[in-house]
Order: sequence, then C-alpha cells, then structure tokens
Amino acid sequence: MKILLASSEVFPFSKTGGLADMVAALARALADAGHEARVVTPLYRGIREKFPAIKRVDWQFHLPMGDHYADGGLWELDVASGLKIYFVEQPDYFNRAGIYQENNCSYPDNDERYIFLSKCVVHLARYLTWKPEVVHVHDWQVGLVPALILQQKNEGWGNPTPTCLTIHNLAYQGVFPEEAFALTNLPPSFFNPEGAEFFGLLNCLKAGIAYTDTITTVSPRYAREITTEEFGCGLDGVLRRRAQNLTGILNGVDYSEWNTTKNPHLFKPYSVSRLAGKNAGKAELQKLLGLPVNKSTPLFGTISRLAEQKGVDIQLGALAEMLNADMQFCLLGSGAPEFENGYRELAKRFPDKVAVRFGYDEKLAHRIEAGCDFFLMPSRFEPCGLNQMYSLRYGTIPIVRATGGLDDSVADFFEVRHQATGIKFYEYSARALAKAIRKALAIYQEPKLISQYRQAGMKADYSWEASVAKYLNVYEKLLEKQ
Ligand code: ADP
Repeated sequence: MKILLASSEVFPFSKTGGLADMVAALARALADAGHEARVVTPLYRGIREKFPAIKRVDWQFHLPMGDHYADGGLWELDVASGLKIYFVEQPDYFNRAGIYQENNCSYPDNDERYIFLSKCVVHLARYLTWKPEVVHVHDWQVGLVPALILQQKNEGWGNPTPTCLTIHNLAYQGVFPEEAFALTNLPPSFFNPEGAEFFGLLNCLKAGIAYTDTITTVSPRYAREITTEEFGCGLDGVLRRRAQNLTGILNGVDYSEWNTTKNPHLFKPYSVSRLAGKNAGKAELQKLLGLPVNKSTPLFGTISRLAEQKGVDIQLGALAEMLNADMQFCLLGSGAPEFENGYRELAKRFPDKVAVRFGYDEKLAHRIEAGCDFFLMPSRFEPCGLNQMYSLRYGTIPIVRATGGLDDSVADFFEVRHQATGIKFYEYSARALAKAIRKALAIYQEPKLISQYRQAGMKADYSWEASVAKYLNVYEKLLEKQ
C-alpha cells in the first residue's frame, strides 16, 4: 500500500513530544511491513545541517494563501527502503528558532504556517508521480487537509484520495480568528458549525474531524473518553456524530530507539536477566544529578512537558507530602515558568533529595528512564503516553493515573495480581498520588515483589507490529469503501 503521512514534527528531525516519535515509528513500521510510506513535514531550522544527506527535489510550490501566493521548495531524504521523508522549505514560515513558539509565546502566524503546510500536502498527494492510496494526517496542524482534498472533488478533479486523521491530543485544536479561514481559499460552505467553524472561529482539528473519511486516536480508552463532555474539549458532540468512524489504536514503541541492550545513551547495558547494569545506571544517574549515591534509596523520576495536562499540581503536592520519607526524585522537563518554579522550590526545600533539570535532553531522558526505580505519570488526561511504556521496557515501575493510554498500557496488582507491571491510582488528587507513592515505597522493601513487577514490565511487548496491523486494517476499510 502507498501511504502519504503528514505531521508538523517527525523524530529525529523535529520533536516537541510524542507526536514526533509516533509518526516516525509508524512510518518505519509500515515500511518494515512491506508498504511504501512517505512523510511530509516542514524543513525547520538546522535540519539540513544535521542531516546533510537531504537532497533538493526539483519541485516548486506556488500556492494561494487568501489573496496572495506563497512559494516553497521541497527536499527529501530516503530513510530506509520504502520510507521517504519530504521536507517543505519555506524560510519565512519554518526557518525560526522554535517549532511552534519562542519564549513560551506561540508564533502569531501559526494559522498561516500550517495552512501552507496543509496545502503542500494536498499538492503533493495530487501531483506526485508516486500516487498515495491513503493520506494520513496527524493533529490540527494538518487538520485542514481532508477538507482541501474534498474541495478538489467539488472542483471536478475526480475521486479524492481517502483520508485518515489521527488525534494525538484533543486539547490542541488550532483555533484561530474567523479571518484565518480566508487563507484556506475554501468556499464559505466549509465554514459552518458542521464543519470548520467553532463558535465563529476557525478550528483546524474540528475541520479534520468533520471532513476526514476516518479518525483514529492513540489509545482505545482515549477513543471512548473523547466522546464524553469531560474529556471532549468542546468537540465531544462532533466526535459522537462520527463515533462509527473512530478507532483507538495504542501507539507502539520504537524499541530500536528505546532499549537497554544497545543504547548509546546509557551508562551500561542491561536486560531482564542481567540487571547489574541497571544498578550501575542508577548510581551514575545519582552522581550526575548531584544526589547522594545510595542504592537502597528508591529513586523516582519524571520526564515531561510541564503543562497542566501532565498533573504537575498534584505531583508537587504529593511530593511535598512524601519527601520526608527515604526517597529521591528527579525531573527533566520544560514548559510553563510557574511550573518550573514549583519544581525549583521543591529542590530548594529538599536539596539532597530532589534534582531538577529544565530543557530538552534526549540523552538524559534515556538515563532517567534507566536509572530510576519508579516513573511518575500522574496525568489529568493522557491520550496515549509513551514514557510509561519506555519505563516498562527499562525495568522502571510506572506509577500512573488510570486515564487514556496510561490505563490501557499499565496493569495494576488489583487487575492482574502476579502479572502487575505498575501502580495505578484513580482520583485526580495529591492525596491519591501520595498513597500510590507510599505503595511504591512498601513494594521497594520487598526485593521479590520488585523483581516480579520488573520482569512483567520488561517482558511486556508494545512494539509496533500489533499496532501497524490495526492501522493497515483501517486503511484497507477505507479502500473497500472507494
Ligand atoms: P506528550 O506527547 O504529551 O508530550 P508522551 O509521553 O506521549 O507525551 O511523549 C513525550 C516524549 O517526549 C517522550 O519521548 C519523552 O521522553 C519526550 N520528552 C518530553 N520532555 C522531554 C525533555 N524535557 N527532554 C527530553 N525528552 C522529553
């Protein structure tokens, strides 16, 4: 099958979160399964320098953006057999210091930047000699693609290529003033409450939900949750209308990146049968972070965007309560300054127990996953979440709130007894999280129990094989409908 994917970030070229990991891994898994996957993404600053094998393609975009035209170029990189990445070059839009923002301030022209990207995707789908059978778009940044493709049919360009939209996080919808709709050059009929309009504003994700042929999201539980008012972020009604075409597929993990046996980021390799390297990694991590090197003190870790979604408030509350116990905590994160300050305060209050690092650091992320005993993910909501699955493979017991993909990927003692892989809590409160941490401290005193959890977690398989088969199933159904 020929699949054209589109995403505003793709690992290792650009990344702010799980979206980049997922799109890269899905595309690779499709290619590994014998299909042809090509991914369209922006050529952000620095990509060409970091990946000198990228080649310019003889291609020129000249696309209407409201009452003017924008030009762009195209670059490509063959990553593996059956897998190509297309980079859209438009220096005014994409050659910037950040991807979506600078100094915690979103770029004011994000509407224009990603409407242009969406138009480039549609242009490629139509004019490439390699004809995609499915166009698979991810999140709001390319949410207008299905509407733009549909419009081609209305203009008499024949049957449109079937589209699939994956929602990675319903909380980010790409909402802009009504005037931004003019940049799409779509007829006004698309700007209505059944389509791209959301209370008088342009909503790019809603347009995707309304006009795509099929919708997926990144875990079965999140697929159910987003049709409810509590988790629907205002779009639950539209999603309920499209429930027949909504599938939840758990993201897989790219174990060629996230593994403990062949990983250049780790101090020492280890595996389920040889855990010495994990103990060594813990000591090295404690040293690196300036924490007392102590094997018997349980080390908790978090790697996260510091956003409200991630449960920062209850985490700060629970840690303040629990840090008098014999435990350590480390954080790698970046985000809202007030949240960063909260962790800074905690580190000041417990200097020999808490280490915090702000910024983005891939190497440290691997080292924290490997060196910690427990991984904390107290999200308010979590579409899929990847870190808890990385933790499982790294023998680091995840403590998660039972929501979305966290609930789908971690098994608690009360669900499966001796096959438990982590600790779940339910109520969104500092008290409930503190109780879960207390449970972890108790488990930590029982080496046999710890080993049982670790064994079950490290053996759990969240590779892409199962998930890619489910995506193929979705694509095949689309083609049958043709
Ligand atoms: P989300 O996409 O909501 O941010 P996920 O758990 O799905 O959450 O994915 C987060 C990804 O981003 C993981 O690969 C995680 O390791 C990575 N990550 C998040 N913050 C940082 C950071 N400060 N440094 C390095 N990696 C990070």
